[in-house]
Amino acid sequence: MATFSPTEQGSVAWTGGTLRIAGATDVGCVRSINQDAYGHFHLADRGESLFVVADGLGGHQGGEIASQLAVEVLEKWIGEGEGEPSIRLTRAITAANQSILTAARRDDQLSGMATTIVCLLLDENGRSHVAHVGDSRLYRLRDGRLSGITEDHSLVATLVREGVLSAEDAREDPRRNQVLRALGVRDEIQIDVASLESLPGDTYLLCSDGLNGLIDDDEIHNLLTQHSEPTVLAAALIDAARQAGGNDNITCLIASLPAPTIFPVLRARAARLIAATRSLFQKARA
Ligand code: CA
Repeated sequence: MATFSPTEQGSVAWTGGTLRIAGATDVGCVRSINQDAYGHFHLADRGESLFVVADGLGGHQGGEIASQLAVEVLEKWIGEGEGEPSIRLTRAITAANQSILTAARRDDQLSGMATTIVCLLLDENGRSHVAHVGDSRLYRLRDGRLSGITEDHSLVATLVREGVLSAEDAREDPRRNQVLRALGVRDEIQIDVASLESLPGDTYLLCSDGLNGLIDDDEIHNLLTQHSEPTVLAAALIDAARQAGGNDNITCLIASLPAPTIFPVLRARAARLIAATRSLFQKARA
């Protein structure tokens, strides 16, 4: 059964070591309410860990409710659903979309509420399953290199991909908050899903655009390499976005996989040596 980790930081047992986790959210320096939501869930009976960040959109209380609802529905559907991780992620996000639409249709005050979502599901077979809608992001730090794993579903990101706008100009473009896909907009939803290999030592960062809209990838990379302790890293990322103006809600969620230890390496080497010696003996006897 899925268990919500109520603390803002922590660690859970993980195949071959301990997965270190930290999450933080901040209202920022300008807004009065925080419409971001996040959650991390350890699905002990499946050997999976789920990470979700959602960035709510819409006036009144709508944005807050949409993002919180998305995180809750994700936890339930991923924990209780059937099928491969990528199938469960697709079904869970589709269900979250329906829940938000239903809630908005029942209450005029919530009409027009929507949310982005980015999810990471780590399984015990060393795979990372990623799904997203909107402009919340997943980054991965591997061997000191930072990669953006998700592609923003936003107007400026599309213009940058088409070569119409430079990445630098996109950061200042007045249309930078326009997302092209979100949960709660229409019944049909297009979800990007991918399954990738996870390696020991990988660090994953999920964030809302209040982080990556304020500090660029070079600064995110610097902070990820400077701070290996997730709780310290989360605080440093929030602080950097606030220092840069903090004109939006800021959320980051970090999952750091245990680094490879020397024991499995030695065990693998010993196994290879035994196999080579055995094959030499067999050849000598033949
Ligand atoms: Ca935002």
